[in-house]
Amino acid sequence: MGATRSTANDGLVLQGVRCLVTGTGDELHDVDVACVGGWITEIGPGLTIPAGAATVDASSWIVTPGLVNSHQHLYQVGLRAIGALERATIGPWLGGLGARCLEWEAAGRLTPERIGAIAAAGLAESVLGGVTTIADQHYLHPAGATRPFIEATIVAAQEIGVRLHATRGTLTLGRDQGAGADPRLVQSIDEVLRHSAQLIDEFHDPEPGAFVRVDLAPCGVHTDPPELFEAFAALAAACPGVRLHTHCYEVVDTEFCRERYAVTPWEFLVRHGWAQPRTWLAHMVDVPVEELADIAAAGVGIAHLVAPDLRMGWGVAPVRAMLEAGVTVGFGTTGSASNDGANLLGDLRVAALVHRIGADHEWLSARELLGMATQGSARCLGRPELGRIAVGAAADLAAWDLDTVDRVGINDPVVGLLLCGLSDRATFVTVGGRVVVRDGRLVTADEARVAADARAALRV
Ligand SMILES: [Zn+2]
Repeated sequence: MGATRSTANDGLVLQGVRCLVTGTGDELHDVDVACVGGWITEIGPGLTIPAGAATVDASSWIVTPGLVNSHQHLYQVGLRAIGALERATIGPWLGGLGARCLEWEAAGRLTPERIGAIAAAGLAESVLGGVTTIADQHYLHPAGATRPFIEATIVAAQEIGVRLHATRGTLTLGRDQGAGADPRLVQSIDEVLRHSAQLIDEFHDPEPGAFVRVDLAPCGVHTDPPELFEAFAALAAACPGVRLHTHCYEVVDTEFCRERYAVTPWEFLVRHGWAQPRTWLAHMVDVPVEELADIAAAGVGIAHLVAPDLRMGWGVAPVRAMLEAGVTVGFGTTGSASNDGANLLGDLRVAALVHRIGADHEWLSARELLGMATQGSARCLGRPELGRIAVGAAADLAAWDLDTVDRVGINDPVVGLLLCGLSDRATFVTVGGRVVVRDGRLVTADEARVAADARAALRV
């Protein structure tokens, strides 16, 4: 297993936090938060500063646990806002994306260096929005031997200083086998399993506080066969901390699964060993609500991705019913091809509003939504040390300034964080106690250079 733990630091104390959202149900006011060695060590008013620790004035801030994005495709930063696909439905949209990726390949632009530079832009954007952990599903692998795209993304995450769940995405069922993927972007199951085991061996850190974990993530039941789901379940069972992830109930897979296998996507997952607590699922827009009790009982989590679900015209996932059934619900953005950004806080605002349409019972509150983007996502990823502010939790903190002109008049800081403000850019962010954003600027890398490198990577 690789050494990817947090680097030690001398400590940091946030002093006089105006509103501390612990993520465990409490909100504290005018308290200090002390972090040493990557962990939260003390919370309370007027703390003694540990020797060698830095201090920062947090008296105008709302501080939350670092946000956790439970579903991303970082390479898609290069596929934002394609005019020809602006109003494309899922079939033409997937075809259009595949065509763009094959153009990259034909032009020699699909190199690990370029993917790393593009991913760095998405990682920088994420952390500037208060995200401290990202689950990235990289499924773009041209047929044949795997090139180190995921490895390049891991290096980029380490340079930016964010935690990464590098999920080994796959397309293993092509158009020539009755599925939708272009055969030029389809790999063999043997190659996928070989590379997955290699990634786990080289990079996966099962320990609490890990900066890199590796998870196994077929694109979906419409792009990968039962044998791969079963093989991934067996591999995950043999590797502590390795989890299982896939797209599910995103409309296209629902139809495919019924036609090909005569079952629902959930029944497919049950049949092939995925109804287990290692599993979390993305989208779940058209999941039948009568299946939610079984999903909850299996300990399977769900990543709610409101912005892409709307962008693709799929509608709104039944999140209230999920919560009432006892399902763990996390939050995410998915990739920029169907979101056009990685603004998790902005997407929480969308969710706060859109779930009111047609709802005949209680709307989702700001606190519930923030809980999904912190505790909920952390649970999806199997990370009890993340998504909460408590002694012994990881020192991943995100802060926004409540004294800016666009936040004047906020009566409830948590509601205001979601519903108010000209910008969702965080003021201050730490990951494992290391300051990654200060005064709204990235400090671990030059933001302008990251953007320039990504633009250069996208040039022919
Ligand atoms: Zn996705």
